[in-house]
Amino acid sequence: MKASTQQRAGGPAKVEMIPGVLSFQEARAKVEKYARQLRPTGVEKVSLSRALARFLAEPVHADRDLPPFARSTRDGFAVRSADLAKLPARLKIVGEIKAGASPESTVFKLLPGEAVYIMTGAPVPSDADAVLMQEHATHINDRVIEATRQLVPGENLVPQGAEAWEGQLLLGAGARLTPARIALAAMVGAATVTVYRRPQVAVLTTGDEIVPLHAYPGPTQIRNSNLYSLAAQIELAGGEPVPLPVAPDNPRRLRELIATALRHDLVLLTGGVSLGKYDLVEDVLKELQAEFHFTGVKIQPGRPLVFGDAPARKKASQASARATASTRGKGQARASSRTKQDVRRVPFFGLPGNPVSTLVTCELFVTPVLRALAGGEMLPLRFASARLKSSFQTPTGLTRFLPAQVNGGPGQVEVELLQWQGSGDLVTTSQANCYLVIPPDREQLAAGEEVSILIPGAELG
Ligand code: AMP
Ligand code: MG
Repeated sequence: MKASTQQRAGGPAKVEMIPGVLSFQEARAKVEKYARQLRPTGVEKVSLSRALARFLAEPVHADRDLPPFARSTRDGFAVRSADLAKLPARLKIVGEIKAGASPESTVFKLLPGEAVYIMTGAPVPSDADAVLMQEHATHINDRVIEATRQLVPGENLVPQGAEAWEGQLLLGAGARLTPARIALAAMVGAATVTVYRRPQVAVLTTGDEIVPLHAYPGPTQIRNSNLYSLAAQIELAGGEPVPLPVAPDNPRRLRELIATALRHDLVLLTGGVSLGKYDLVEDVLKELQAEFHFTGVKIQPGRPLVFGDAPARKKASQASARATASTRGKGQARASSRTKQDVRRVPFFGLPGNPVSTLVTCELFVTPVLRALAGGEMLPLRFASARLKSSFQTPTGLTRFLPAQVNGGPGQVEVELLQWQGSGDLVTTSQANCYLVIPPDREQLAAGEEVSILIPGAELG
C-alpha cells in the first residue's frame, strides 16, 4: 500500500505517515469521487403504492394545470374585492358552489354587489377575484350578507396553474420518492412510475463469536446485530440487503463467502479488518484481486475501515450461459475480450465489527456509494451547529463522531455528549439523536462553545 501523501490542510503539525490511512475529509472525498462514476444497474416500473424511497428513473410531469381551476382555499363567499372597498358592505348571495360541483353549475355571471357561497376546494367563478371567509361575514337574511373585512384581489384563492402548468417537470430523474413526492405523483395520475432497480447489497458479517438471532448465544458469543443495523441502513438508502451466512475466522470459508458476495452490486463486510491475528478480511480480498482505495480513516469510532473494489464474480446462471455459448463455438472471442476489458468491479467496504463503528462508518462512507447505485443524486452529510452543554477533554489526532443528544429551540440549540462505553455500546448510542463532531486538533472543549453535530439520515432527503 502506498503511503498517504495528501494530508489535511491546516491539520495537526505532526503528520502521521500510515500507509493507506486517510483523514476523514480525504476518505470522504475519495468515496464521493468514486460514487460519481457509478450508475444504477437498471430500471423497472413499479406501482406508485410500492414506490416509497425509490429513485425515479423517468421524470414526472404535470398532466394538467395545478390547480386545474382557480381553487378556493376557504369556506366563504366568492366576491369582487372592489365591492368591499367601503365597509360594511352588503352583498347578495346568488348561488352556491361546492367542491366537485358539475362544471355547468359553477358558471356564474357575478354582477357588482353579488357573491356566491363557496366551499374549500371549489372552483371560484371567473367574475370573482377573492374569497371572503365565512367568519368575516354576517348574515342579514338567507340571501344577504354583510362583509366585515376588506380583501385584496387574489385573497383566499389559488389561481389556475399557479403551482404548475400542464407539461411542467415536477420530479426529475434521481428524485427520491418521499411521501410528499408520492402524493404529487398521485396528483398527476402517475399510478405507475419508472424507478431505478434497487442495488443488491451483500452483507457479510464475520467472526467466530457471532451467532444468528435465533440461536441462544453461549457465554462468550455475540448476537449478529450488525446484520440488522446494516440491513436497515441499506433499505433507508434505497438498496436491497442480501444477508449472507456469517463467515467464521477461517480464510477458506471467508474466501468462498466473499466470492459469493462479489456477485452483487455492493459488498459490506463487518469485522475482521483490524490488526488482530484473526483479522483476515483484507488478505482474502487481496487474493481476490481487490484494489484498495484506503485501509483506514483517522476517525473514532471506525478507524480500521477499508474501501476498495474487486472484479465481479459471475452468478451461477451467467457462468452456465457463458459455458453454453463457448461450446457452441460462436461468440467465444467476443466473450473473452469482454472479460478482459469490461469486467465489472464491485465496490466493497470492510467495516469495523464494533456495532457503533459499523453504524457510523456506514453513515459516513457507504451511503454515497449506495445512493449512486440506487440512482439518487449525491447529498452532503448534514452538519449543524449547537452549543456544548458541558466541557470535556479528548486526545487529538482523530476526527470523532461521538453519540450525543441535541435539544432546544431556535437560538438555543444545546448538545450534550453521552457517557458511553466505547464503540461497542449500542445501549447509549440508541439514545443519541446526533453525533458530536470533534476535529482532530481539538483537545479541550469548553461548555458554551459552538460545536458541530452530524444529524444522521442525510440519505432520507
Ligand atoms: P472485529 O472488528 O472483528 O475485531 O470485532 C470487533 C468487535 O465487534 C468484537 O467485540 C466483535 O465481537 C464485535 N462484532 C463483530 N461483528 C459483529 C456483529 N456482526 N454483530 C455484533 N458485534 C460484532
Ligand atoms: Mg472479528
